[in-house]
Order: sequence, then C-alpha cells, then structure tokens
Amino acid sequence: MSLPGSPFLAYRGKELFLEDCSLDELAQRFGTPLYVYSQAAMLAALAPYQRGLAGRPHLVCYAMKANSNLAVLQTFARAGCGFDIVSGGELERVLAAGADADKVVFSGVGKTRAEMHRALDAGVLCFNVESEAELEVLSQAAVDARRTARISLRVNPDVDAQTHAYISTGLKGNKFGIAHDQALAAYRRATELPGLEVAGIDCHIGSQITTSGPYLDALDRVLDLVESIEAAGIALHHLDLGGGLGIVYTDEQPPAADALLAQLLQRIDARGHGHRMLMVEPGRSLVGNAGVLVSEVLYLKPGEAKNFCIVDAAMNDLMRPAMYEAFMRIEACRLRGHGATVYDVVGPVCESGDWLGRDRALAVEPGDRVAVLSAGAYCMSMASNYNTRGRAAEVMVVGGQAHLVRDREQPSELFRGERLID
Ligand SMILES: *Cc1c(COP(=O)(O)O)cnc(C)c1O
Repeated sequence: MSLPGSPFLAYRGKELFLEDCSLDELAQRFGTPLYVYSQAAMLAALAPYQRGLAGRPHLVCYAMKANSNLAVLQTFARAGCGFDIVSGGELERVLAAGADADKVVFSGVGKTRAEMHRALDAGVLCFNVESEAELEVLSQAAVDARRTARISLRVNPDVDAQTHAYISTGLKGNKFGIAHDQALAAYRRATELPGLEVAGIDCHIGSQITTSGPYLDALDRVLDLVESIEAAGIALHHLDLGGGLGIVYTDEQPPAADALLAQLLQRIDARGHGHRMLMVEPGRSLVGNAGVLVSEVLYLKPGEAKNFCIVDAAMNDLMRPAMYEAFMRIEACRLRGHGATVYDVVGPVCESGDWLGRDRALAVEPGDRVAVLSAGAYCMSMASNYNTRGRAAEVMVVGGQAHLVRDREQPSELFRGERLID
C-alpha cells in the first residue's frame, strides 16, 4: 500500500518504509523525534521541473528556507540547482554545502547592509529587490564594495493565490514586492542608480498553491509589465516566476510541475517572450513529500471530551499545525491488529496549541511510533528550542542507506553562549 503524495513511502506488510528503510528501525537506531528524508523522493520531485524547462535557458532555484539541512542543499547543488535565499545565514549555509554563489538569488523584504555586503563579496547571481528604499541602500552598498549588484524587482501582481492568508504573498495588502503600478518608476530609478545592473523581473505569489489559475494571472500581469518596461528602453534578461506550487497533504490535487510549466510556457511563447532565461523558486514542492517526522507514543490519555495520544514530538519540532492549523497525516509505523481509537495527537510542550493532529483514528500503544507525513518542508526549518527542547536529529536515506545528517541537539548546546551575572 502506497500513501498519497509519497510514492517512496509505503507499508510493507505491517511496517511503514521510506524507500528501503523501516521507519521503526530507524527510530530504534537514531532515537525520536526523528526527521527522515528520502533523497530519491527529492530528486523525483525536481525531475518534472527540469523536464518542463528542458531545452530553454533556465535555472531552478531551490527555496532553501523550506528545508536547509546541508545534505539537502548538497543534493540539489549536485543536481544542478541554484538557490533562493532570504538571509545572510542562508547564504553561509548554502556556500558551506558546496553551492556556487553565481547560482544564488537573494530574496526578502528586509535585507540588511551587512547581508548585502556579504552577498556582493560572494558574487550572488541576483538580488530580488522588494522596495525602492532597498534599491537605494543596495546601490550604496555596491558602490562602497566597488561591485555591481545585478537586480530584479519583485513585483506584486495583486493576484489571489487562494491559499492560507499567512502564506499568500501576491496581494496588495501583503508586505512583499513592489506594487504593479509603481514598478516602472522603480525600474527607471534602478537604471539611474550607480552600482546596479537590471537583470530581470520576478514575482512570487504565495505558497501551497493548488491550481494553475493564479500562476497564469500573475504571469499575464508580469508580462504586461515586462512589455512596458522594455518599451521604456530597459532590457530584462530573465523572468523569475517564484515558487509556491502545492503538495498533497491529504486530498489536494495540485498540478504536476511539468504540466504547470507547459501552461506557463505556452503563454510566454504566445506573447513572444520565449527567448528569456526562465527561473523558478520551488521550495515545498521539492522537499515536502520527501520527509516524515517519526515520534514515539509516550502516553495514551483517555478523557471525557477527547482522547489524547501524547507523543515525544511537539510544536517546537513541527510548527505547521499550531501556526496554520495545517493538516498533516499521521500514520502508525507498525500496524496493530486491534481497532483504532480517535485521538488528538499532542506533544509535551506547555501550550494548548501544541498539537500535531486532531481527531485521528490510530491503533497505537505507548512505545509505538507514529510518522507525521509530508514533513520535509517548513518543519525542521521552523523548529525552535521552546521549552528548552533540543531539535530533532535528521536522517537522509540515500540509495537505501540511512545517513545521519544532523545530530540531535543536546541540552548543553541549548544554553551555550548564555551567561550568569557575577
Ligand atoms: C518561500 C519562497 C519561495 C518558495 O515557496 P514554496 O511555497 O516553498 O515553493 C520562493 N520564493 C520566495 C521569494 C519565497 O519567499
């Protein structure tokens, strides 16, 4: 039996496997909570992007905030990807993983001068600039560093991505990007400022988008802008369409990346923009369904209104349910013969918001392990140390072999750097 959205995850008999690894065995070997990723699943998720863009100048920039483990970055760097970064920390990480700076695009509404300097020194491919004020500061930084900053402006096409309010980024009321009707003026300003070289245009309208409509609407709006910007004599080399493609958490039916790209390319070609270098910035869709979080059942706590299944993973390990009320499937790592009970699956953290799943039918006993599915994106990368809980270990399965790619954090590491007052 295979599970939706996760072709590399399946029960063999009573045991849940990721590729050729039993999750129960990995939990025994590495402890819990444990993130487990399948490298093959990541590469399989990348393939439709590469197929969809084959034969054209293109760059797939993995949006590394989705999952920034070094081994994940190394996987995508070796597969030829570039990277979308949103902080100086991410820049250091991706360079440490062996990526080429000249395949890195730097996004984000609040880049500091120090981050700009570091990125200029490293030689990033492009800064995705999100305001006129940032243009001025970046120009100054480039002049000071005696370098040229290649830029694209992130424009806000004002389309509704039809996703959760917290992960919708392309509407007028969002903090992201430069408003459509101010974009031409901002491009004009960019051409006047020293140290800047206009390279392209970009947009990113949100995350977990499950239909192609918002992408096509945004594309049309961006191409309108491209045409008016070029009519004003400013050449744009590349078109960056951002990320945001959704994945299957339960019964969503997002388009496949190659099918979506085919629709977008048809529109791009029809409007005479087929010669441009194309960039995309997928995050979730490359890693989300390549990972699970394995956790041990600590206690079963029956109650009048609710039964609770208390596990050793918590909101600090996996924040999406607490933050967005996100639904993520939870499955037993070893199927039992007896019937299921409906539980709220909760962690040990002292917050009522600390839940991983509500009203889930599970046949489990204390000591059993459960897997939270689709946990490869925006889970470990959002983990915190709340309640002085060390962050989970991470394992990557490569060709059937499990590699520990991050040690479990130890308590002493959590207060290293803090000081008593004498
Ligand atoms: C987060 C982000 C992405 C990736 O979004 P996904 O939904 O994970 O694909 C791409 N570009 C920018 C600018 C982002 O902030």
